[in-house]
Amino acid sequence: MKAVLFHEFGHSNVLRVEEIDDPRPCAGEVLIRNRASALNHLDIDVREGISRFPVAFPHILGVEVAGEIVEVGKGVTGWAPGDRVNPYIIGTCGECRFCRSARESLCLTPGFISFSTGGGYAEMLVCPTRQLVRIPDGVSFEDAAALQVAFATAWHMLFTRAQLMAGETVMINSVGSGIGSAAVQLARRAGAFVIGNASSDEKLARARELGLDEGINHATEDVVGRVMELTDEAGADVVFEHVGGDLFQKGLESLGKDGRLVICGAHAGEVVPFDIIPFFRAQKRIIGSFVYSRLEVEKCFDLLARGQVEPLVHSTFPLERAAEAMDVMERREHFGKILLTP
Ligand SMILES: [Zn+2]
Repeated sequence: MKAVLFHEFGHSNVLRVEEIDDPRPCAGEVLIRNRASALNHLDIDVREGISRFPVAFPHILGVEVAGEIVEVGKGVTGWAPGDRVNPYIIGTCGECRFCRSARESLCLTPGFISFSTGGGYAEMLVCPTRQLVRIPDGVSFEDAAALQVAFATAWHMLFTRAQLMAGETVMINSVGSGIGSAAVQLARRAGAFVIGNASSDEKLARARELGLDEGINHATEDVVGRVMELTDEAGADVVFEHVGGDLFQKGLESLGKDGRLVICGAHAGEVVPFDIIPFFRAQKRIIGSFVYSRLEVEKCFDLLARGQVEPLVHSTFPLERAAEAMDVMERREHFGKILLTP
């Protein structure tokens, strides 16, 4: 099969398109023909060697895959060639106390697609059946590939972790990103008043079409001042944060009394100063959020199958142009996911 590999860390020019042996499924595994695979910013960190994941060379990137089963391993029941699947990103043990209590993203011995299995930058990969999620009829491979990380992450943050309720105000950082635009759609559908920020007026206009009530250009406007204005000085009930650095600070200051900031990322600054006094006096909360559960992926597929959410696809590239696709993502000019379609 054809695969995009890298043998050393670096920029996109370390990627090599190579012909390698087809993987074979062992007991309890299936072989999947990859039909669409989404890029994530994590891929850049992994390629550059700053992801904090252990990378063995040569490595195949890609954690979001949609495809069809072409072969099943020994002892596999309930799955057959032709079934359309989207593997859950985490390989869980199914037995630790977190797996047994609906907190499987905290599994004590997790594997991850592209680390414990093959990756999405390839024509095929092998995956344990425990990780498989069925793609509903009528959902395209492209939409399925663009769904999981963006929507299930946003779902887990908004509903499971921050417990957003109808009638509350949420402020979403960087609504132009994959999870930001997914959060806008889910929060709006849940009955929240949705404020969001982005680096350009074009991104805010696009987010308005998805359900954003009020947009703030964080490059030209005072984010905290505008949130206070829009909420009659009450502040936001929930801040959806995945950026880090300056936007983390502004998010914290945009919270109202007893408000909660839910966070899952920090690309723009991992270590920040923290003003303790106003934080505890307003009884604010910061809530960490890591990945999502397989059930949450299935709920997002339910919404997609009913046409209630729209995964955003910015562009698709053939496998051979993976380096170019990564460069587009790195320039951060896209709105929606970038896909490889092997
Ligand atoms: Zn576990």
